[in-house]
Amino acid sequence: MISVLDEHGFAMSKKFGQNFLLPLSIREKIVSQMGTIEGRSIFEIGPGLGAITSVMLGKGAFVRAFEIDHGFAQILRNEAFADEERFSLVEGDALKTLFKETERPDLIVGNLPYNVGSLIIGDIIERGLLPERMVFTLQKEVVERMCAREGGKEYSSFSVLSQLDYDVSYSFTIARTAFYPQPNVDSAVVVMKKKADSVIEKGEREKFFLLLRTLFSQRRKTIKNNLGRIIQDRDQLKEVLEKAGIDEKERAENLSLKDIVRLMRCY
Ligand code: SAM
Repeated sequence: MISVLDEHGFAMSKKFGQNFLLPLSIREKIVSQMGTIEGRSIFEIGPGLGAITSVMLGKGAFVRAFEIDHGFAQILRNEAFADEERFSLVEGDALKTLFKETERPDLIVGNLPYNVGSLIIGDIIERGLLPERMVFTLQKEVVERMCAREGGKEYSSFSVLSQLDYDVSYSFTIARTAFYPQPNVDSAVVVMKKKADSVIEKGEREKFFLLLRTLFSQRRKTIKNNLGRIIQDRDQLKEVLEKAGIDEKERAENLSLKDIVRLMRCY
């Protein structure tokens, strides 16, 4: 792959977070986290030069890839997978293009650019794309945050968001040496499996997201202080917290997903 990059005179773009995964064994291990993929429809975000794509196609999957880099898009379309009927490409920013799709995929995969990885995952959940499984390679610290439980210092609104519809697990670490060019952080693979039952109703989602954002808006502040932005009446606020059984001096980082859902249903 390095030779292809050199041959085409590619200068890796930092802006697009372009670090390419080299060892086949690791790419195969990532794909194996998706379960049986033969005949399944998969969205791949940031295929680059098709390192993970080729493994998935080899196993009989239907891959729709979303790539922002025009040079890579051309190679994928005209050279790498030109004769591959199970491959299609959408060129552009996945943050926009992903949500214009009319068909929903069974699975989503991506070795995501560090800078937009969490934004894309957040949007997939908030905008309700919700495939049955997602497998992402991200900066190790981002994966740790997604898997974090209440009370820990990694726990944030992104942890709650990631765990709202999915059972999230840290699958394995990938050393920085597995990438070209080598980034200055290690990566990890996260597996997100859709929960059998939704934690909240469809009609509650907007309210939940607003509450979540509000609770974590200022980490050092108490829940009571942060919540004051959406429940202005002091007496009502006190009542809501009492009803939810939450101490007014508590901080959001100590609330579980269940606590937040209970609180949401108290006003
Ligand atoms: N999948 C390849 C691999 O594992 O070797 C490349 C991974 S590289 C970390 C990230 C890829 O995402 C690059 O190809 C980059 O151009 C692409 N990318 C970056 N931002 C994007 C965006 N907003 N939408 C779609 N693709 C994006």
